[in-house]
Amino acid sequence: MAEDELENLPGVGATIAEKLREAGYTDLMAIAVESPSKLSEVAEIGENTAVKIIAAAKEAADIGRFETGDVILERRKNIGKLLTGSKALDDLLGGGIETQAITEFFGEFGSGKTQICHQLAVNVTKSKEDGGLEGHSIIIDTENTFRPERIMQMSKALDLDAQDVLKKIHVARAFNSHHQMLLIEKANELSKEYPIRLLVVDSLTAHFRAEYIGRGALAERQQALNKHMHDLMRFGDLNNCVIAVTNQVAAKPDAFFGDPTRPIGGHIVGHTATFRLYLRKSKGGKRIARLIDSPNLPEAEAVFMVSEDGISD
Ligand code: ADP
Ligand code: MG
Repeated sequence: MAEDELENLPGVGATIAEKLREAGYTDLMAIAVESPSKLSEVAEIGENTAVKIIAAAKEAADIGRFETGDVILERRKNIGKLLTGSKALDDLLGGGIETQAITEFFGEFGSGKTQICHQLAVNVTKSKEDGGLEGHSIIIDTENTFRPERIMQMSKALDLDAQDVLKKIHVARAFNSHHQMLLIEKANELSKEYPIRLLVVDSLTAHFRAEYIGRGALAERQQALNKHMHDLMRFGDLNNCVIAVTNQVAAKPDAFFGDPTRPIGGHIVGHTATFRLYLRKSKGGKRIARLIDSPNLPEAEAVFMVSEDGISD
């Protein structure tokens, strides 16, 4: 975006533009999808002014453009598939994890979400013939669970040079939800330098869950998550990249979140994620994945393994 693009919006002078940038609103789309109350709060402007700014940003950001089917078909021809290490899991997903889509892994603690993310970061470095995407990955780690030692074990099991693989994984800790969202901008910068074909957010929802507490904060949380999901989706489209996110569900029923098998973020994450996999533990290192809500695949289950070597059948 041009430096003065924010300033060109009606009602936005240098001071407000500066406040918006500081708050992380560096492009029109971010403002276009924001709520008037939030924008008025961060930029310290009246709500009526915020409404006008958002309307102008919507116009300028060209929201709601239509594309014809043949254009979409052409883009879809470039879709890559990243293999997981488990043939059963790949088959469940129609032949691997698609680029230009968000794939969500949800399940309780220890169900294998982080293990899959590590495996994908290893696999994405492989050649296309070997089920990789010849690329680098970005991992946004919100729970401090990234372990290079795990990457080394998984690389060794595949006869890959572990140092080489580690050099292709770009990890950032996200300290809160706002930081997490800002890191997508950093990811955009990094993608100009490296062929990023996998972006992991592990966990997508933990910070949001911890920070937006109580029923009163629900709408605001969903709004922020919605913006985050759209930023991720756009990153996936622009970079022909796999977006893998994790979402923890409580093992025990929760007074606030209710049904333990319902992922955090409810319908916002659910409607934006293209593929959703519910993971659960089974006996002897086995895990069961259930595909839920896919646009073009049947609801079904697959069994895979988590071992020292990583993900396998
Ligand atoms: P979460 O879904 O909470 O992210 P993880 O993906 O971290 O859970 O899964 C943790 C589980 O993965 C452990 O309980 C263990 O079963 C398995 N695991 C982790 N590291 C190893 C390893 N080196 N060898 C075998 N299994 C492992
Ligand atoms: Mg985890």
